[in-house]
Amino acid sequence: MESTFTLIACTGRAFYLGEGATLRIVNTFGTQVVDAWAFNANDSAEFMSMEHTRVHAPSPIPVKGTVFRSNKRQPMLEFIHDTSPGDHDWFFAACDQVRYEILGHTDAHANCSDNLKNAMAETGNPVTHVPCPLNLFENAPLLSGDTGIYPPTSRPGDSVELAALADLIVCLSACPQDMADTNGSDRLPKDVEVTIIR
Ligand SMILES: [Zn+2]
Repeated sequence: MESTFTLIACTGRAFYLGEGATLRIVNTFGTQVVDAWAFNANDSAEFMSMEHTRVHAPSPIPVKGTVFRSNKRQPMLEFIHDTSPGDHDWFFAACDQVRYEILGHTDAHANCSDNLKNAMAETGNPVTHVPCPLNLFENAPLLSGDTGIYPPTSRPGDSVELAALADLIVCLSACPQDMADTNGSDRLPKDVEVTIIR
């Protein structure tokens, strides 16, 4: 059984993803970064942890075959499919209000950290800590010695799939960044398509 929804640009959504289900994220327009988090469905204090994942990972960047682990080192998600050129990030923090203030935007700005908190609260699983996200499609070539963030290399329709290895609450945020090239050189956040396959 499949269910699909459009994750609207600049917004977040959290939802249950049971063990054995697959999550597909389609980068409809090719240039949208999607921040992803996962929490134990029964204990939101256990969360997908990039630093714990990297210790056991097959590659210094997220690739097909990577098993994303929790802060208790338990398997949570497996990266099972990727049609993009493979540029994803797992080093950089989610954007937040202060990030935009540093860039010069003093009014309130949508951001991935608030998207996470609001979406989790809506599921009845409030969180106060924002773990480092898996930044899907984010072109941040840190390991080549460059701390910049560049327009995604993904193309319209490129997709990734993650398989749930435990019962999870997953949260996705279509990053609202419009003051840097994170979401393309047009700096225009866009919708993505999300499908849950059970
Ligand atoms: Zn963001």
